[in-house]
Amino acid sequence: MNRTPLEGWIRDKLLLPGTQALTRSDLETFQVRKLREVVTYAQTKSPFYRNLLAEVDDLDVKDLQAFSRLPFTTPDDVRTQGMRMLCTSQDEIERVVTLQTSGTSGEAKRIFFTAEDLELTVDFFHHGMATMVAAGATVIIFLPGERPDSVGDLLARGLRRLGVRPVTFGPVRDPIAARAEIMRHPSPCLVGIPTQILSLARGEGGEAIPRGWVESVLLSTDYVPTAIVEELKQNWGCRVFTHYGMTETGLGGGVECEARDGYHLREADLYTEIVDPATGRPVADGEFGEVVFTTLTRSGMPLVRYRTGDLARMMPESCPCGTVLKRLGRVQGRIGATVRLRDGASIAMATLDEALFPIPGLLNFTAEIADNGGRDQLNLCLQACEGQEEQVARGAVAALVRAESSDPLFRQGGLTLGSITFDRAGWFTTGTGKRQIRDVRQENQGAVCA
Ligand SMILES: [Zn+2]
Repeated sequence: MNRTPLEGWIRDKLLLPGTQALTRSDLETFQVRKLREVVTYAQTKSPFYRNLLAEVDDLDVKDLQAFSRLPFTTPDDVRTQGMRMLCTSQDEIERVVTLQTSGTSGEAKRIFFTAEDLELTVDFFHHGMATMVAAGATVIIFLPGERPDSVGDLLARGLRRLGVRPVTFGPVRDPIAARAEIMRHPSPCLVGIPTQILSLARGEGGEAIPRGWVESVLLSTDYVPTAIVEELKQNWGCRVFTHYGMTETGLGGGVECEARDGYHLREADLYTEIVDPATGRPVADGEFGEVVFTTLTRSGMPLVRYRTGDLARMMPESCPCGTVLKRLGRVQGRIGATVRLRDGASIAMATLDEALFPIPGLLNFTAEIADNGGRDQLNLCLQACEGQEEQVARGAVAALVRAESSDPLFRQGGLTLGSITFDRAGWFTTGTGKRQIRDVRQENQGAVCA
């Protein structure tokens, strides 16, 4: 098994002398130095951080433990005070990514990048993609890539440096055209959003792509259902890798190695902590908590101890690939995206994903928790392959209410299954946003497909 190419890349960034191998201690020394730099830089350049970190001095960043006592930043800070977090003049900002969120404030999050910040991402894509492709290969990018500096464009630039040919297709809106593109390139690597790539394998006409044609797939999003990974592996007989990242991490964050069991992170650009979501205290490796990261090298809008809302753990065992880099385990879902039920239990989109995506013929779904005479009711809107709606609906009922269901929600009777409807069109244009359960108990009950 090849060691993750990220290790050599990170080693080079540390400018270690000669052929000396990278150690954890080298990396941590580097991270502490960078954390000190970013804190001073942010305090000097940004009104927001000048205020937030007013009491912080060098001694508070003398080591990682001391750093873990600094205050957090949150998505709400970005929403309401994003401009005050800027550390450069607006002239130096090359790209602004606007994220529409379903938050109550309704304000969008805007993340600012300088040209240097974007170069860091291109560099990560260049080295991270070396995990699965080499010079001469073709990568078809099913992510937005038309605009300069969009995620697809940055990925294409990184791939060219690797001698790999990028084909920027964009999100899958027309599966027939997407499959035709795949069939134009022998042994391609596909990069895309899990449900969209699933629609190419499972949807009507899926047999257009014979088993063995696709060499590898990289799925990128906040949460990748295991059922989708398994379906693609089985259907196409290919290797399936996953990437973890979000706009705030600089679009790229971490990628699995050949062991395909946990993400190796861009540890020279990001310092990642896992904290107890309730107390904010760091948890030990192996324990689940909220992913918090600090950018070490970004100049436009550095983020210090940024709470992602993602639930994951650092894996305590070293990786079979032999690297000294850490492994972030698969993200288990979003902390804020859990809907609390009346009986005290809670339900997450990830739970529904794992229960429902194994159903043959299911392409995608949306879910809401509604009020039904004082009881919580789950309504589903399913997108299924044509002609398979009935069988998919039966599968959904069986998966959610069967006695042996791995999830006790329905067994306890706290939650009932309400309506199951079908969306026969439209989901291909739903874009790249995060999928989550809507809580409509306070609202007028609308159709879940609306
Ligand atoms: Zn590894």
